[in-house]
Amino acid sequence: MKILVLNCGSSSLKYQLIDMDNEEVLAKGLCERIGIAGSKLTHKAEGKDDYSLETDMPDHSVAVKLVFDALTDEKHGVVNSVDEIGAVGHRVLHGGTKFTESIVVNDEVKKVIRECFDLGPLHNPANLMGIEACEKVVPGKKNVAVFDTTFGMSLPEKAYFYAIPTEYYEKYGIRRYGFHGTSHTFVSHETIKFGGLDPEKAKVIVCHLGNGASISASIGGKGVDTSMGLTPLEGLIMGTRSGDIDPAAVQFIANHENKSVDDVLNILNKKSGILGMSGVSSDFRDVEKAAQEGNHMAEVALQAFRYRVAKYIGAYAAAMNGVDAIAFTAGVGENDIKARKLIVEEYLGYLGAKIDDERNNVRGKEALISADDSKVKIYLIPTNEELAIARDTLRLI
Ligand code: ADP
Repeated sequence: MKILVLNCGSSSLKYQLIDMDNEEVLAKGLCERIGIAGSKLTHKAEGKDDYSLETDMPDHSVAVKLVFDALTDEKHGVVNSVDEIGAVGHRVLHGGTKFTESIVVNDEVKKVIRECFDLGPLHNPANLMGIEACEKVVPGKKNVAVFDTTFGMSLPEKAYFYAIPTEYYEKYGIRRYGFHGTSHTFVSHETIKFGGLDPEKAKVIVCHLGNGASISASIGGKGVDTSMGLTPLEGLIMGTRSGDIDPAAVQFIANHENKSVDDVLNILNKKSGILGMSGVSSDFRDVEKAAQEGNHMAEVALQAFRYRVAKYIGAYAAAMNGVDAIAFTAGVGENDIKARKLIVEEYLGYLGAKIDDERNNVRGKEALISADDSKVKIYLIPTNEELAIARDTLRLI
């Protein structure tokens, strides 16, 4: 059976068509810079020439249509018709307290995904658009929602409770959920496998550094802590999100700028992070270029990003009373050689962590990047949320 996996991010849509008989990827691709000038689809299919298309993608539904066109295209496609696609698995950001497991989509599931828009304002709307676009293009096909909040369900109470009156947890389920859960589960298990670490006891920190960024601590692949919270706003500095901030700043900005709390949260979600600090872009490559050209705040934004990552690594090493391995993953983690080097060299010497420059000169494939005498193993482990989602989808249908 062939499963299509859609992973709609804030500014990107990744897809894979996977033959589940052998878990081989038949075609995969990426729509980049959705909603930003210069949108591009890149499509790679087994046995076919690579194909790319630069065209406007104002929103995710336009991107989904382009994906189906590419998959069924006479020249670049891998299926004759959409009938050959057995089901579609969707990465969905937030399942609230209702969904602690993946589930086949029905009207009730869509309703809950919609109810969680305020908890995942950058992703849940895009995820739902992806589901509804599939319902139109491949009617009758099952859609499965795989939630990013599942990894956070194993956190101990001391990690997921906020220090606010407990009634808000009881009434509204206000707690830390964590996101990128599919990625943290997959990468922590893959790190253990690739590194030959103890499958029960290995203490692993996964740095998922992309446009959205989060970091997790796990023991034997089981989540112990994770940096995102009730929403994906908490934690690291991201492309457009502030990450951790004193909540009193929300009140201060609202009062002085005559804005509502919603307005300010919108700024923290969509206009902050490296975009807000640098004033240049949410894309790390653009900000790095600006920093090289002497833009001071672009340089400060990148320094602050690395500093925040390092502070969380320190916190999680303490939370687990040790760390065996650190894994870098996602767009920045898999490609930004300099960021990986600087995070380790500037901040992690006290852990005995040492990067090996030659090994670190790698992008997008599993690799050990620490020196032989490093006390902590450091890896590049590409995330494969698509395969994890496809497995769940197959299991559920
Ligand atoms: P998301 O899925 O949250 O949209 P990704 O994991 O796809 O994010 O990561 C996107 C980010 O990765 C972009 O900000 C992009 O700048 C960054 N990135 C990709 N390649 C590189 C590179 N070679 N150097 C630095 N950053 C990169």
